[in-house]
Amino acid sequence: MDFQPYIPGMLPAEPGPLARFTPPLEEGVISTWLPLHAPKGSWVLDPFGFSSRLVIEAARTGYRVLVTVNNPITRFLLEMSANPPAETDFKAAFADLAAVKKGEERLGAHLQSLYLTPCEKCGSEIYADSFLWRKGAEVPYARVYTCPNCEDAGERVVTPQDTEKAKQIAATDALHRSRAFERVAALEDGDRVYAEEAIEHYLPRPLYFLTTIINRLDSLNLTPERRRALNALILVACDAGNTLWDHPSGRRRPKQLNVPAQFREHNLWIQLERGLSQWTETASSVLVEAWPQRLPESGGICIYEGRLKDLAEEVKKAIPIKAVIGSLPRPNQAFWTLSALWAGWLWGREAVEPYKPALRRRRYDWAWNATASNATFTHLFGLCHLGTPFFGLLSEPEPAFLTSALTAASAAGFDLKSIALRTEHDPIQLLWTCGEHLKRQPNAAELEEVREAIFAHLVERGEPASYLHVHAAGLVALVKSHALKQNNQEFDEALRSTQSLIQTALEEDPRFVHYSNGESVDTGLWGLGEAPGDGAPPAGTSQPESLSDRVEIAIVTFLQKHPNSIYREIEQDLYPRFPGLLTPSMGMIYAVLSSYAQKENGEWKLRPEDVAAERRNELTRITRLIEAIGKRLGYTTRKQEKNYLWEQNGRVERTFYILASALLGRALAETSYPLTQTIIVIPGGRAALAAYKAQRDPSLASRIKEVQIVKYRLLRTLIELPVLTRETFEEQIAGDPLEKSKSQLMMF
Ligand SMILES: [Zn+2]
Repeated sequence: MDFQPYIPGMLPAEPGPLARFTPPLEEGVISTWLPLHAPKGSWVLDPFGFSSRLVIEAARTGYRVLVTVNNPITRFLLEMSANPPAETDFKAAFADLAAVKKGEERLGAHLQSLYLTPCEKCGSEIYADSFLWRKGAEVPYARVYTCPNCEDAGERVVTPQDTEKAKQIAATDALHRSRAFERVAALEDGDRVYAEEAIEHYLPRPLYFLTTIINRLDSLNLTPERRRALNALILVACDAGNTLWDHPSGRRRPKQLNVPAQFREHNLWIQLERGLSQWTETASSVLVEAWPQRLPESGGICIYEGRLKDLAEEVKKAIPIKAVIGSLPRPNQAFWTLSALWAGWLWGREAVEPYKPALRRRRYDWAWNATASNATFTHLFGLCHLGTPFFGLLSEPEPAFLTSALTAASAAGFDLKSIALRTEHDPIQLLWTCGEHLKRQPNAAELEEVREAIFAHLVERGEPASYLHVHAAGLVALVKSHALKQNNQEFDEALRSTQSLIQTALEEDPRFVHYSNGESVDTGLWGLGEAPGDGAPPAGTSQPESLSDRVEIAIVTFLQKHPNSIYREIEQDLYPRFPGLLTPSMGMIYAVLSSYAQKENGEWKLRPEDVAAERRNELTRITRLIEAIGKRLGYTTRKQEKNYLWEQNGRVERTFYILASALLGRALAETSYPLTQTIIVIPGGRAALAAYKAQRDPSLASRIKEVQIVKYRLLRTLIELPVLTRETFEEQIAGDPLEKSKSQLMMF
């Protein structure tokens, strides 16, 4: 396998509508990858249609993107983001809606009045931003507002008026609720019960709000563009209106329809207004066509609403697919069920029909996911030529998700070429190619291969790794030997046996050490045990310097050669040096940067004291200090390789190792004296980086416990003391802990 460098991107400034349900992908990744693998203007296929961002970015880069989408809400998101109505259309549609008559009132005023509440301080009637509820309660327990009159703001206990209002709306709830079902499923429909259950995730007030608007949609005389704009605003309100907004906010990306113990009921009128800013895009629009319309060579998006299987034959005949891209599907019962509901509300029952199975299914486990993905991969295999590259992004990665995706692809005939993994918070970047059309004979799963692959990864890393990393290393070994799934196995069985194989490999091998507070194999970190002795590498290996030490060296070397670099340039230099599973985290990069460099106008350069020549002078000065202090304490100083020794009567009493860096691992390896005698001297500016490294590497943390680490400035202070004894020296160095200078660095 040829591990590719991770392609860096940027998280979008605006997460966009329904962001808690769409894959959190970085921008700039697919536009970097595609031109390296397919000429501009060629056809690219996204068989999953999970991320509209991905598809739009590919189209903007100049590709013709064919995408299959079977979720009507995802399709709407894609069309809207590619080609949003003008801001004036949004505003006009919103104004029209607000102006509709509702009895004697205007609809806007009526709907806003649902959220009126008295200010606790000045008593004026104001609009609450939200109400707070406890699960199962009949009325809210608190309201959140900002009073425009007296500026009183925050969470306040509900008043009798708030309680009364909630009860009033609840009294007519049955009627609105049944209207809401009917737009999704007919009375006699067997699926009605599922629609009813899904609608349970709406409180009476938001349900009244939404159905009141939806029932007026058809009577509003809007142009198609304005109708589209209004639908987009309502969709934002549909999501804001359910009970999946826990308070205080914790579960930011719901996967299941579970009512939180405490949740927030948003003021939906305010949400409609906010929707205006969420949808208006500044970027140029992208051509969108519906299959079987074709696209010009300049690029665009062609949407096929349905499943790949129905499309495969036609595509094979008519369209040469040069590359496949996709955000790999991750089961989301909450989003899929709500999508069916919202499609019915916005477009009526016919729109729900093809997507109705989503209403019925409650549990989506990884075996289900693997089976469904495998079906897609198999159809894909049928329409791709040998060697067609497939760039897959696996967002919110977790071990079971990765196993599922790799097993599904491998069983369909795709060869894994690369896997680039940064942290469990970033999408994994996978590269497959369409393999040979031959029946593969899967090998029996080999425990030994998994074990050696994990061992090799940990040796290469030189420091402990997360479970996700070692799991990925194990999977790669199984992919190589086609051992993820046997021909006669179901996916659930295959996934289970892979999981237990990797678990056994880790747990039953004495070379592996688990750093974890929990019992479970997938918590904490996995590393290699240490051979007895002083920080020596594990027996039988030549362990390279730790990943974080190598990253530190690489960044400093780069900045010496390229002062005034922006962060992206640093990443672009770094990632190819540490490809695949070694990709350094942003936390690590920033820890090194903030130790060595300063940022001006977005550009990083080494601090004046960290320029190489200045550091060398400083090292000489520190050496002299050690000699001078030693002399005052009655020691002679002698240099032995990289150590400075304090000796008395020919006996070594103390040894010093001077660092200009935070390469503690190197210092430990190059100290051949007992660690309890050893003092490692580092610049004060390196202390936070050293502490960061110890924090993310429990093996390093335990090794440096035995040595003393002191900062340059302590030695400078000591030499100034009028009276210096061996006792004061020992007291002073013991009182200079690393942790004191710990700054707020990102942990990973
Ligand atoms: Zn007030």
